[in-house]
Amino acid sequence: MKIYLDTVGCRLNQSEIESMARQFRAAGHEVVASPELADMAVVNTCAVTTEAASDSRGKIRHIARAGVGQIIPTGCWTTLQPKEAASLPNVLRVVTNEQKDYLVADALNITHESFDVEPIARAPLPGLHRRTRAFIKVQDGCDNHCTFCVTTIARGEGRSRPLADVIQDIQFALAGGSKEIVLTGVHLGSWGQDISTLRQAQGGASLNANLHLRDLVRAILRETNVQRLRLSSLEPWDLDADFFTLWDASTSLSAGRRLMPHLHLPLQSGCDATLKRMARKTTPASFRDLVNAARYVMHDAAITTDIIAGFPGETEDEFAESLAFVKEMNFAGGHVFSYSPRPLTGAAKMKGQIRPEVRKKRNRILAETLEESANVYRRKFVGKRMSVLWESVSEMGEWGWQMEGWTDNYLRVSALASSPRWNEVDEVELTEVSGDRLLGKFVISNS
Ligand code: SF4
Repeated sequence: MKIYLDTVGCRLNQSEIESMARQFRAAGHEVVASPELADMAVVNTCAVTTEAASDSRGKIRHIARAGVGQIIPTGCWTTLQPKEAASLPNVLRVVTNEQKDYLVADALNITHESFDVEPIARAPLPGLHRRTRAFIKVQDGCDNHCTFCVTTIARGEGRSRPLADVIQDIQFALAGGSKEIVLTGVHLGSWGQDISTLRQAQGGASLNANLHLRDLVRAILRETNVQRLRLSSLEPWDLDADFFTLWDASTSLSAGRRLMPHLHLPLQSGCDATLKRMARKTTPASFRDLVNAARYVMHDAAITTDIIAGFPGETEDEFAESLAFVKEMNFAGGHVFSYSPRPLTGAAKMKGQIRPEVRKKRNRILAETLEESANVYRRKFVGKRMSVLWESVSEMGEWGWQMEGWTDNYLRVSALASSPRWNEVDEVELTEVSGDRLLGKFVISNS
């Protein structure tokens, strides 16, 4: 059969459809680049905002119009609205997040164990979702209850994937030619909290303790030859100053340059009172300490973030406090989301809902502030030489090939090459800032 895989939303959704691609291929089916070519399609839906839910429905309808007779919606929106998902055109069956691990086996009517033995390497998805970087799922679900968050409702309680399974997936990805591994999860920083192990305490006694994300990172760097390991979003309260020893070149525990100097730490608000209504386990003061501890070890690290504009009850004063804190943090970039009331969440029932036009205005102001500090950060690297992993390529006729990619500290770079360098890592000299990226020229390349 020809299978089309599509997704909306987060890196976790992307990593899940990549695993499904590997399973469909292992079962002898072909993954195709567009729905027009497909017999069956899977859509990994998202519910994080009203727009994401609407995009998810839109994709399913588009795929049905393209002529696919068997569509399988899965993911967060589908889990929260199974009846509505089942009512969409050409839907064969609805698969919730809980059942997702067996989606491919059930779709092909084969036993769940069939995939336990398949040692096939990762191959990038064809078409829109073709990526050089491999997103590896290490954790699912979340035990926190941030009042705006629908993901924790759709994904269930926090659970870590066994270390051996993660290592195996990474080996598959590296065998498939991936040059960068991105660890992802709903609540990545909680990896290991549900896995207990025996540790050697001072004085030699054995102690029962839980694992931590840093144990996973160390094991990956010890047991694989990954050269670029990146961590996706990390909730600030899961980290402490000790976590940054992973990047501390002065200690033997350092990961050297194999661990990307980029931390995405969702702040959501820079105001204490707003954070309390969000039920976030962080404060501006503890967030500041964490960022300072990271910058003490990695001076030039990229610290990026997520912020919600117009959370219920956010007064002008609270917004001003949040904005001032965002300015103080000098982020290297990030995303601003206008608050979007989600079904079943505590915040959707809160008093003091902010008018959409005010949310929009605050979003614009926060986005401009983030872009200003991102530009300051970019300018620091003009004139420097950095290695870039090329993620996209477009032919430019006599000028050669326009390459786009990312540095280790997540700077977007464009450069002209004499030959296509997709999925290659090259040294470039960064020459100037141009909009949201840096322009570069190749230093060492056989292109
Ligand atoms: S930590 Fe909060 S925002 Fe993140 S997934 Fe859990 S509940 Fe949602």
